[in-house]
Amino acid sequence: MKRGAGTIVESDTGRSSNDEGEGESLMKTLFLGVAFLILAGALRLPIASAQGSLAVSIRLPERCRLLTDQQFDLRIEAVGVTHVDASLRVLLDGAEMSSVLPSPEVTSDNDAANTTLDKAWTFRKVAFSSAGTKTLQAIVSDGTRSATARTRIGVQSFRLQDKRNILLFLGDAMGTAYRDAARLVAQSTNHRFREGFFDELLHMDQLPVTGMVMTYALDRVVPDSANTASAWSMGNKTIDGALGVFPDNTDSRFDPAAVQATKQFALDNPRVETLWEYLKRRYGYKTGIVTTADVTDATPAGAGGHTITRSLGYDIARQYVDGVFTSGPTFDVIMGGGKERFVTRTAENSGDARNLAAELQSLGYTYVQTRSELNALSGGPSAPDKMLGLFRTGNMNVAYDKLGLTRPSDEPTPDFEGFADQPFLDEMTVKALAVLSKQGRPFILLVEGASIDKQSHLNHAAGQIWDTIEFDRAVGAGRAALRRNNHTLSSTLVLVTADHDQSMTILGVTDTTVPGAVQNVRSPSAYPSAPASPVTKSRATYPGESDGFPDYADANGDGYPENTNRFRLTVGYRTGAHTGTSVPLTAGGPGALLFTGYYDQTDLFFKMATVLSQNTAALDRALSEKAKLKGVEQNY
Ligand SMILES: [Zn+2]
Repeated sequence: MKRGAGTIVESDTGRSSNDEGEGESLMKTLFLGVAFLILAGALRLPIASAQGSLAVSIRLPERCRLLTDQQFDLRIEAVGVTHVDASLRVLLDGAEMSSVLPSPEVTSDNDAANTTLDKAWTFRKVAFSSAGTKTLQAIVSDGTRSATARTRIGVQSFRLQDKRNILLFLGDAMGTAYRDAARLVAQSTNHRFREGFFDELLHMDQLPVTGMVMTYALDRVVPDSANTASAWSMGNKTIDGALGVFPDNTDSRFDPAAVQATKQFALDNPRVETLWEYLKRRYGYKTGIVTTADVTDATPAGAGGHTITRSLGYDIARQYVDGVFTSGPTFDVIMGGGKERFVTRTAENSGDARNLAAELQSLGYTYVQTRSELNALSGGPSAPDKMLGLFRTGNMNVAYDKLGLTRPSDEPTPDFEGFADQPFLDEMTVKALAVLSKQGRPFILLVEGASIDKQSHLNHAAGQIWDTIEFDRAVGAGRAALRRNNHTLSSTLVLVTADHDQSMTILGVTDTTVPGAVQNVRSPSAYPSAPASPVTKSRATYPGESDGFPDYADANGDGYPENTNRFRLTVGYRTGAHTGTSVPLTAGGPGALLFTGYYDQTDLFFKMATVLSQNTAALDRALSEKAKLKGVEQNY
């Protein structure tokens, strides 16, 4: 029973932790701890008299990295404590930190094991003022016993250079095949895709730099949109479902069946400041989130939500308005769905009855609820100072349905639930940029195409592909708006990437005039059978499968094909879930060349910070030299 504790401890028996193994040991401790709890619960062991070994842990991941002055919460947990007055010392590179640390929140009996005593100290909003590798040491003394944990933290220097902007376009689940499918459908209209060449690429393809991003979570290979959002927004990995926080030992006390009574255990976790919060708090950046999802959904909530479970959308909305690291609201622009999180709050759903839309209006936000209201807003100098756009409850409808196209027979007809007048993502993006860039202050904006993921979960190919086209149009419209605004595009780093992949692959082209033609192989359909005969080279696997290219048309010239053509793209889904494949990124603007290569998703955060705080002139010259060295490569 005592095996579970002590693996990371430098105890009075002389066992010591080592920095490299600490994360792994910590995980072992957690797993063994869970096993122990289950045993104790099932067998009702008389463990009150058993004194567990004293163990201490610092609740930071092994490779924790921060910017100078980026605030984070330092939580130290001790288990196997015998005295409630057990004391803590924290050393930074061997020196006492007590004089510089804020006074901690001190709690005991935190974990679900109420037969044993544990104690935790949470120091809120700690930061390092200098760069370098720091060694943190936590020493807990309990009577005559003591235990120590150590961890290292990498701190990157940040000093704002120029007033540069960041525009991050995130296609949820937009892996390589998803970009390919959107290109094949959108850029093949009117025979613009012939002999294997496109006349034009997608807007997102035209950015000059490409990278690949590894998306693994702290606790698993296949991530979700919350832990991936935390990676790019706060520079650190966390566990599945978590936003802007690290796990702690009260998490298991959150009960989804009793949310209001137990949510304190999901909201009390050690938090890390996001780049949106950091830039607003320190430099007065204008901040924004624009999405086709509920604005409290995992991806937009990555920029300003702090909870161990993404399910607490009403609390995330409250965090946006009250600010967690900022004094006042976290964002100057919020646009998307999720209206109910702001205007129909009750004791049951959110623990308060506030009208957050009204509160934001009283703070100077312009509030719009329809596409018509949005498009009636002026741009330029008379654009609103701050903006809240809530166009629907839940997630917004997808592009295919907003366009009024007829869904294929294997996809459901849309339900707008009365919200018939919803904007497209490009319209939202252009208005957001008008608001954010109005006062000449630098800005950071997230634009999410959310239903690429949501439709892929359902294996709805039309819903998903046309949403990827909508997302790409937002990339084009956003860059065009910045280009019109004189120097803004040249001072804006534009990134287009995904948070994680899903399982769709491109299977080919289908002739829809063949009876029973298959345009979308859905999971859990049987895996495709092998080619009929390698001798005849017959590759037909599905009814209607055809060689050659698709023949999409865009008769009304709105940039979206009508999907009434004969030869259409065929795709297949292996699952209705995320996958662990790395995702592509394209980049343009100052410092874009930093994003070439293969790297972890947390590096996105530090690369964005580098672009803002270091001189990228040589890199930017190299990128323009690259453009001059083209041979007969097709010049898109
Ligand atoms: Zn998803």
